[in-house]
Amino acid sequence: MNSLLEEMPGVAVLPEAPPTSVSASSLDSNPSLAANPETCSLENYLALPDHSMDERIAAAREKLGSQVILLGHHYQRDEVIRFADATGDSYKLSKIAAQTGARYIVFCGVHFMAESADLLGREDLTDEQGNTIAQQVILPDLNAGCSMADMAEISQVEAAWEVLTHLGLSDETIPLTYMNSAAAIKAFCGERGGLVCTSSNARAAFEWAFERGKRIFFLPDQHLGRNTGYAMGIPLDQMPVWDPWALQGGQSKANLEAGKIILWKGHCSVHQRFLPSHVDQVRAKYPGIQVIVHPECRWEVCQKADALGSTERLIQLVEEAPEGSMFAIGTEIHLVNRLAKRFAEQGKKIITLDDSGCLCTTMYRISPQHLAWALENLIEGRVVNQIQVKKTVKHWARIALDRMLEI
Ligand code: SF4
Repeated sequence: MNSLLEEMPGVAVLPEAPPTSVSASSLDSNPSLAANPETCSLENYLALPDHSMDERIAAAREKLGSQVILLGHHYQRDEVIRFADATGDSYKLSKIAAQTGARYIVFCGVHFMAESADLLGREDLTDEQGNTIAQQVILPDLNAGCSMADMAEISQVEAAWEVLTHLGLSDETIPLTYMNSAAAIKAFCGERGGLVCTSSNARAAFEWAFERGKRIFFLPDQHLGRNTGYAMGIPLDQMPVWDPWALQGGQSKANLEAGKIILWKGHCSVHQRFLPSHVDQVRAKYPGIQVIVHPECRWEVCQKADALGSTERLIQLVEEAPEGSMFAIGTEIHLVNRLAKRFAEQGKKIITLDDSGCLCTTMYRISPQHLAWALENLIEGRVVNQIQVKKTVKHWARIALDRMLEI
């Protein structure tokens, strides 16, 4: 077991597989893995109820053994995450996958997470014939995207950069992207001297960028960018928002020039739902409650909160709190509900900051049916829904990620 895995609280992982793995052909030759005529068609699975998938997923998971690692993001639904070998945020999950010898990574998350797993994935595995092979990443439903990542299209970002170049500003600007972005955006940043950050290392990444340039061009989450910049002492009026649909981003040259951080006009549709009034309401109803939120929430919400942090940090805050503590958490509802159940026995009360329910609907698309379909196809030697980043994109995206790892 590697040290990274051992360090992770609450993360269950498979024993590390050897750096060799079973090939598809050996799966075919296993008599216990007899071909199922229903396996190919996803339609056959979608017609069946959720609960009927449990035994099939468990059986498939057992047959596939250590050649597969099944990763579940914290926001994933219960019916799926219960089968995960490891749970965590996107970055931790990608690192876990890369550090195992599993040949197949079934990523129960969203598209950019599966791309990141492919970017960080191992390319030094060996098959039974002695050939060098790479890990393969599977996203059980290709429709599981991320609304925030989709708010920054590479063509829009390139067009914005051209404008900044035309204004004479790009030479002194470092492009920086949140992990929650497409691989092409990560590559864009890598190629122009920038890097990737996560919600837990955003401040360190910003400091790295300010050592190299006068300003940051931050993609795609304006809230994480604003919250991080403000915590570093940058006034709000020095963080202009770039609207990709407006001429020159909707900003004057003077505003852009004076800006320390140019914020891309993107947001998470889940975290943006939390409002300052929600903080007031829970405090009025539960005196003494602590409000803890994810930095993808609006600046006004973060200012009112007792603490902010990545999903891993939010979990840690609850874990470390004394018995009897109360928390209202501003993040995705599946994680909040799971924490409420997990800590009820310790007398900790945990509620969502907005009880209308903030659900990541795209993450929710990964259903037990999709998971069973992906695993049973794998048993028959078929890799469905593989996520593979293009080689040209991979090169610069990997550089942007490596720079992050160095800070
Ligand atoms: S919670 Fe928000 S940022 Fe995370 S995957 Fe869902 S839409 Fe994207």
